[in-house]
Amino acid sequence: MNNFSVGMAPLLEVAGLSVDYGLKGVPLRAIEDVSFTVRAGEAVALVGESGSGKTTTAMSIAGLLPPNARVSSGEVRYRGKRLPIDDDAAMRPHRWSETSVVFQGAMNALNPVHRVLKQIAEPCMLKLGMTRDEATARARELLELVGIPADRGSAFPHELSGGMRQRVMIAMALACRPSIIIGDEPTTALDVITQAQILKLLGKLRSQLNLALILITHDLSVVAESCDRAMIMYAGRIVEDGTVADIFTEPKHPYTRLLIESIPSPAKGKKILRPIPGDPPTLLNRPSGCAFRLRCPFAMHVCAAEDPRLDPSGRGRVACHLHRSLTQEQKVAAHA
Ligand code: ATP
Ligand code: SF4
Ligand code: MG
Repeated sequence: MNNFSVGMAPLLEVAGLSVDYGLKGVPLRAIEDVSFTVRAGEAVALVGESGSGKTTTAMSIAGLLPPNARVSSGEVRYRGKRLPIDDDAAMRPHRWSETSVVFQGAMNALNPVHRVLKQIAEPCMLKLGMTRDEATARARELLELVGIPADRGSAFPHELSGGMRQRVMIAMALACRPSIIIGDEPTTALDVITQAQILKLLGKLRSQLNLALILITHDLSVVAESCDRAMIMYAGRIVEDGTVADIFTEPKHPYTRLLIESIPSPAKGKKILRPIPGDPPTLLNRPSGCAFRLRCPFAMHVCAAEDPRLDPSGRGRVACHLHRSLTQEQKVAAHA
């Protein structure tokens, strides 16, 4: 349990979760020892470059890992109870009614030949045991809740704009009254104005329904506006976890610092995104020790030898040898 959960039981606990993908029969570690908690109503961002393990973490929680994935250690608990995340059939009663996912690109996730009202009503019948009339009434309510006039429910997905389709996806995600919504890049395919509207809607629903939100994004400006806490992932691990205020004003991990420095800021005359030099490792070429060391401006000898643990640091957690409390002797050895 980390500092953030003190005083309030967490809704979700992810403890020591490691997941492998089988590639030609060889297991490759995609996420390693991922641990965090989420409280009711809290908005937590998962941030990191492509391939850092954000989707794998989210899909593990939702019990939606692909067939070649294997949970090699750890567990996920919802309201204190262990979820059978690696058992598709056993996970069915939990999926969508406890944790729901809003994916990127609603056009692919919606059925093109069914009217949207029907698609929202279906889970209400299947999961909540409602009659068709009850489910239709609930689907109309849900459409209004996400800002779509109920009568638009007679439309097919292709008759709606991208933003409207994403609202429909959010309505579907809410159908079975979950306590946690996971948004996996839910606004990436949208223009800036629609993106802001969808984030505003998620924020409104969060406070209205006391929903917890796990928001996956590459975009730190989205994190600043929509989340309470941010977890920074690199090469399958959480490397920093802190309140959004702390992460933005006092980032501790060198990777977090570089991510924040890479945000374009017209106020500072910095209009162009400055990417972090070098590439993140793949599952096949993770370096020894700290996975960030080949890109890190502060790398020391110890960074090649020892993978830093994610330790408590201030009000958050950080995995970096710069933030370990070293003895004088260890400090001399580290810089030798
Ligand atoms: P992105 O920002 O691109 O969506 P991500 O942070 O969500 O990236 P993941 O999709 O979780 O990253 O992938 C983590 C690692 O696992 C990557 O190296 C990816 O190539 C690999 N991976 C993901 N899914 C599979 C799969 N089904 N089989 C094999 N490897 C996979
Ligand atoms: Fe850089 Fe070393 Fe910290 Fe890794 S452990 S981020 S290489 S200083
Ligand atoms: Mg992803």
